[in-house]
Amino acid sequence: MGGSYEVACDGAVYTCSARGIFRNRKETPLIGDRVEFEVISEPERFGHVLRIRERTNTLKRPRVANVDQALIVFSVIRPAINVDLLDRFLILSEKEGVEAVLVLNKCDIDTSGECQRLRRVYEDIGYRVIVTSAANQDGLHELGAVLEGKVSVLAGPSGVGKSSIVNCVSGRGMEIGELSSKMDRGKHTTRHAELIQIDDDTFIVDSPGFTALAMDELKPDEISGYFREFRPFFGGCRFNDCKHLQEPDCAVKEQVGKTISRERYERYRGLML
Ligand code: GDP
Ligand code: ZN
Repeated sequence: MGGSYEVACDGAVYTCSARGIFRNRKETPLIGDRVEFEVISEPERFGHVLRIRERTNTLKRPRVANVDQALIVFSVIRPAINVDLLDRFLILSEKEGVEAVLVLNKCDIDTSGECQRLRRVYEDIGYRVIVTSAANQDGLHELGAVLEGKVSVLAGPSGVGKSSIVNCVSGRGMEIGELSSKMDRGKHTTRHAELIQIDDDTFIVDSPGFTALAMDELKPDEISGYFREFRPFFGGCRFNDCKHLQEPDCAVKEQVGKTISRERYERYRGLML
């Protein structure tokens, strides 16, 4: 915030300056950065960032570094699940190169069996799916294990239980600041990323920025590549530039109802048309 950076180290948070070194190198510390820093005052928890360690990745929105996975949270009911939005989040994760973990919450009030049905659909594709209830603590142990030692960015519509889940797994852990995201400079709407520390090396990035917004930039040509269950069949289509819609001898369409679920294929068509 305003040129100062909060650095978590050994259970404490240090407020650090970055002085001129980054300006000169055109480098800016980001949320999620691993840094080396020097303590200037231990009692005041004041320090100075010396070096940014090499990043494994950098998300565009929100601008966060070293994200290990995306936690995509939906409830099946209250609010009803929006599978189009769910698939858009998965596409966004594929595009950013971040592994997606799907959390289906409020299983305590799902009497339709939809939770388990959707779990199978997405597990068959190869996604990790965790069915949870923040209300009666179901699945939270499994979720905790998936989060352990990682930086996870949280996504999902409002009202599905994201805050409830984070509170449960963190035991209301401390928050390291609220950092304004760059894209919102000058706007009055409050959109910020929060880094929530669960333990020494486990973090959750809570940000309204990781949304379907970044889908604007999605080109029709690239969409099929983000449906991971389509990929093994691309080479089998008659046309190299097959869009898997009307073309004859399409190896992807051939799999619909077999290894590719019909509903996922229909949602792909919906995005393409
Ligand atoms: P967020 O907007 O995604 O952060 O959702 P919240 O955590 O604020 O939860 C929205 C509402 O759903 C609150 O009234 C919660 O008490 C409720 N809620 C959250 N998780 C569960 C759950 O697992 N089961 C049930 N029945 N309600 C839940
Ligand atoms: Zn095809």
